[in-house]
Amino acid sequence: MREYYLGLDLGGTKILTGLSDKNGKILARSRRETEADLGEEKIIANMIETVEDVLHKTGLSREDVKTLGIGSPGPLDSQKGIIIENSNLPWKNVPIKAKMEKKLNINTILKNDANAAALGEKWFGVGREVDNMVYLTISTGVGGGAVINKKLFTGVNDNACELGHTVIDPDGPLCGCGNHGCLESFASGTAIGRMAREAAEAGKSRVILELADNKIEDIDAVICAQAAYRGDKTAQEIFDTAAFYLGIGLGNFVNIFNTEMIVLGGGVMKASDLFLDKAIEKMEEIALPGPLEIVEVRESELGSDIGLMGAVAVAMEDRLIAHD
Ligand SMILES: [Zn+2]
Repeated sequence: MREYYLGLDLGGTKILTGLSDKNGKILARSRRETEADLGEEKIIANMIETVEDVLHKTGLSREDVKTLGIGSPGPLDSQKGIIIENSNLPWKNVPIKAKMEKKLNINTILKNDANAAALGEKWFGVGREVDNMVYLTISTGVGGGAVINKKLFTGVNDNACELGHTVIDPDGPLCGCGNHGCLESFASGTAIGRMAREAAEAGKSRVILELADNKIEDIDAVICAQAAYRGDKTAQEIFDTAAFYLGIGLGNFVNIFNTEMIVLGGGVMKASDLFLDKAIEKMEEIALPGPLEIVEVRESELGSDIGLMGAVAVAMEDRLIAHD
């Protein structure tokens, strides 16, 4: 009987795999370096090794596993199971679904990491309470996913909810996607780091510069947060700027999706006390009364487990909906 599920979180530096029972309880987990520099075959061998490891730890075999869910940064074609490109891995058009299915003989589903995280938060995190939610990850970039009537909203060819590339200000900074003024170019960890470097360069903050040992190139969002916690005005202003644009983004998402909940996760949320209240204030200003009335903004409950639980939720989505 195939009644177990595998979730694999494929990151640029690490692979984390968990084996779950049919209720989403993790029975074993395995972590390995991705070893991205050693090339495609080695990365896949490492992925397989984590799978073998959790099977070994639980005494189960491949025949006991119904589905393997993989969460990976994109862009990818999740319908075909192909990772088109990955800035952290030396990959171009890798048919990862086909490769894993051939090697493991386990049905495999691939989703982009932000969509997987949305599913993880819906089924195993704070989103359990609702049927409709938007998930926004504020990390190196800004990614998103939406669950509508319990199901991941994928769009026609699986490209929905690139929420980080919502253009907030067409005169804003250039984004990696080629547009100007995307939400990501104002409110991501990368953007906060950029603004902090610019401020240090302009001589606006000694604290930021000191925290980076006077190395402007070492200034990042973490250092900017440390400076803000020390009371540095310029650092706090940078978080105020991020909050302003994040709030506009959130207000738009409230108006577009009309969900009961917006869940915020990602590394930058560790410093949420520096910007979240102001972002919500701005959101409330932008959002229309109808959708605003029912929406609640919550912080992710899964923390560093979100990648893994997202991948497990990808594997289990059909079962979770059927048994809810
Ligand atoms: Zn963009």
